[in-house]
Amino acid sequence: MGGVLPVYADEIDEVKDQLQEVGQQINAQRGKLSSVKKQETTIMGQLQSIEKNIISKENEIKTLEQQIADLQSSIAKTEEEIKEAEKNLAEQNMLLSDRLVYIYEKGDLTYLEVLLSATDIKDFLTRYDLLSMIVEQDMELIDSVNHQKQQLNSRKNDLQVKQNELLFVQQNEKSKREELDAQKQEKKTVLSSVQQEKAQYEKALKELEQTSKELETLIRRIQAGTSGEQQGTGVFTWPTPSCSTITSPYGMRYHPILKYNKMHTGVDIGALSGANIVAADSGTVIQTGWLGGYGQVVVIDHGGGVSTLYAHMSTIIAANGAKVTKGETIGKVGSTGWSTGPHLHFEVRINGVHTNPMSYI
Ligand SMILES: [Zn+2]
Repeated sequence: MGGVLPVYADEIDEVKDQLQEVGQQINAQRGKLSSVKKQETTIMGQLQSIEKNIISKENEIKTLEQQIADLQSSIAKTEEEIKEAEKNLAEQNMLLSDRLVYIYEKGDLTYLEVLLSATDIKDFLTRYDLLSMIVEQDMELIDSVNHQKQQLNSRKNDLQVKQNELLFVQQNEKSKREELDAQKQEKKTVLSSVQQEKAQYEKALKELEQTSKELETLIRRIQAGTSGEQQGTGVFTWPTPSCSTITSPYGMRYHPILKYNKMHTGVDIGALSGANIVAADSGTVIQTGWLGGYGQVVVIDHGGGVSTLYAHMSTIIAANGAKVTKGETIGKVGSTGWSTGPHLHFEVRINGVHTNPMSYI
């Protein structure tokens, strides 16, 4: 008897070992696959695809939140209607029961007595009409009570349907939020893994520099195709009305991981996610959309070779090619691209080349 159990346990152990081995093989394959995938895509491209997921999840959540709010107000309204219907029903019920008690107490005999005590045929007919009217009113009252009851029931059904729908939407929203959190975590992981590895970090910064250079060429090309006439006032307004804290200035800065100086091509203004970003001066929007490590950007040409750039936006509001006026909202603060927290990276460029924005704002 003692022998059966240990053999069984051994078999289980063996199967467990096999499973573990297969699991390790799967993990090794997965590791290879993801490192191949990483080699294929750039670091900024990786961040961008995560970011796109984050933004679409955020939009889905916004839609769901609106649905929840609509349902909640619709439920409140239905509950109000039910209360009203219940009150009406109670009143009519009381009226009806009063009438029923009266009829029961007096009985048909009263009606007959009323009729029989008529003095003449004319009086008899008048009395008959009056009695008919009373009976009719009683019937109407019964109908009305029944109608109220039906309405109340249908309202209660409505309420049940809406409450079920609300529950469903709320669950949907919850799972979307979990997906969003997972995406945000993934971005953090990518950023921190890059920051820990010097070689990867240098690669990331090279990509950023590459984008900055490409931007220089792009702006020059676009500006060459315009009259170059000054479009703005020449005097800039601060691009984030809600916040004026510079978290990182323009210029060379010592890099703690790379241990050498790197150029910062704009100023970073710490602002809350979703805060308004406004055009520093009037001009024409010449670039909108994803731009590698810059995340979501808007570039405005102010004429006279001057342009401004607004990076890491969560939402772009200004349309490409649109004329914007000084102080007009062009987007919202975010943390898209090479960014660990919400801020505006603001650049001023002269003939495409970045310069210190502090001389302008
Ligand atoms: Zn910056």
